[in-house]
Amino acid sequence: MRLGLYGGSFDPIHCGHVTPVLEAVEQLELERVVYLPTAQPPHKPATDFAPVARRFAMVELAVIDHDRLQVSDFEVASGPSYTIDTLEHFADQQPDAELYLLIGSDSLAQIESWCRWRQLFEVARIAVLRRPGWTREQVLAGVSASARVLITAAVTWVDNEPLEISATEIRRRLRAGGPVPSDWAPAAVLQYARKYSLYS
Ligand code: ATP
Repeated sequence: MRLGLYGGSFDPIHCGHVTPVLEAVEQLELERVVYLPTAQPPHKPATDFAPVARRFAMVELAVIDHDRLQVSDFEVASGPSYTIDTLEHFADQQPDAELYLLIGSDSLAQIESWCRWRQLFEVARIAVLRRPGWTREQVLAGVSASARVLITAAVTWVDNEPLEISATEIRRRLRAGGPVPSDWAPAAVLQYARKYSLYS
């Protein structure tokens, strides 16, 4: 069984977090993808995030219609959580599963700053979702020579349509009280964010 794991702050979740994942499900024949909203992303400042319970709820709203997409609270309870610890947990829990770590191409460019990053490649296959501005060539040009070797040999690039959508821009628009294009995020997510004034 091929199991995808997809971590992030999802503040808020948007279509760039869902459509490419659905393309990955098809192309890699993943049985399930588990979203892991993180209480506190190690690479981002601790302040300024919507409460993790709210971000978790928005992920559930975004994936509710997709049977293969689920959300886990595994990284919700802890403080800063490291992806390698999460992967090892799922590897222990589901020894028969083939684990796929899904990450955006912008995140792949930063992978050398991740805790025990080389071990990520031992525990899971890394599947990269293309994001505008972060082509394979651009990512490879920005990493060290040894990372380049590993990435070239081991990473699977999903052939998804790159989507120019960012959570930062959605938060900016919500804060300004302005409209958010309807194809940027599920309507229920935007409704939820406005209902609880998450970004205003
Ligand atoms: P922010 O704008 O707040 O930094 P973000 O979407 O970049 O938000 P996360 O929510 O932590 O940050 O992202 C979760 C994962 O989704 C990361 O692997 C990121 O690279 C990926 N991702 C985010 N946006 C896109 C997109 N438009 N296309 C493909 N992957 C994306």
